Amino acid sequence: MKSAQIKDGKLRIEELPIPSIASGDLLIEMKACGLCGSDIEKIRGQYDVSPIIGHEASGIVKEISANGTGIEKGDRVFPHHHVSCKSCHFCRTGSDTMCKSYREFHFDPGGFSEFFRVPQWNVKQGGILKLPANMSFDQASFIEPTGCCIRALRRSGIAKDDSLFVVGAGPIGLTVVQLAPLFGITKVAVSDINPKRLEFAKRCGASVTIDPTDDDISAAIMKGTNGIGVDCTIIASGNPSAVRQGLESIRRGGKVILLGIPPLGSSLDYGVERLVNNEVTMISTNAANDEEVRLALDFISKGQIDVDSMITHKFSIENIDDALEKIAEGDVIKSIIVP
Ligand SMILES: [Zn+2]
Ligand SMILES: [Zn+2]
Repeated sequence: MKSAQIKDGKLRIEELPIPSIASGDLLIEMKACGLCGSDIEKIRGQYDVSPIIGHEASGIVKEISANGTGIEKGDRVFPHHHVSCKSCHFCRTGSDTMCKSYREFHFDPGGFSEFFRVPQWNVKQGGILKLPANMSFDQASFIEPTGCCIRALRRSGIAKDDSLFVVGAGPIGLTVVQLAPLFGITKVAVSDINPKRLEFAKRCGASVTIDPTDDDISAAIMKGTNGIGVDCTIIASGNPSAVRQGLESIRRGGKVILLGIPPLGSSLDYGVERLVNNEVTMISTNAANDEEVRLALDFISKGQIDVDSMITHKFSIENIDDALEKIAEGDVIKSIIVP
């Protein structure tokens, strides 16, 4: 079978045997797998938490070696690549995505493969969700990233009618914009340097769009908030300058949520005293728990967020290189890798 792997720091298409499964494992025939910003950072050597690429996957259960899970051969599913233990100190205190078991288990050999194995742990901990009949595999590939956006909004503690500024109108930023009304948020500003993405953000319901190449972000935000600044900013970009944009636009007492993953070694040059003097809260958010991916599935299947129109490109596993090239050209919102 074909599988995209990082070998010796390079992206390679390998011909690998179909993984054999042990007791309790699942074998999934991949049908769609989203190309995530973190995959791109891994390929570029800018992310060192895990070398496995492809985690936004959906597919069909090809083989199962466990009973009593409610999952059967032939089921259309979303397998969650990481599942927590639900009993350790981290899980009990709301940091379940920091659970030791959460990252310990993952797809083998990764989601950009014709087939991949899901470990027993993920299966028995409830990490396999059956897809409703009306949900396509492409749509299901958005469950994981949408779950991450839901977590960001939940961790922000954003309240109804608060103002929100989303920095970055990539698929993550655009998903946050679409989720905002479901959290009672109607005033959403979005910034991006790509006019096509801003156009899309408008269609997704953004009230204000800002292009930092033409506009002074801070001035635009102050103008739209009676000189106060926004209540909450979500940084949906890995670019460290995006964090700065967020900090320059936040009101006194506001919250900045770090969602995009900055490349390895990034640092922030910002006066810490300004955070304290202005009582600014910075909250990071990482990945998604069970509840968040279930909510994501629900929102997508009910059409409460539109993921289909974010898919601008599709590439086969062997052409994953082209996906990276296209992204560099700037026309891509979301690329899906298909077998
Ligand atoms: Zn992702
Ligand atoms: Zn745990």
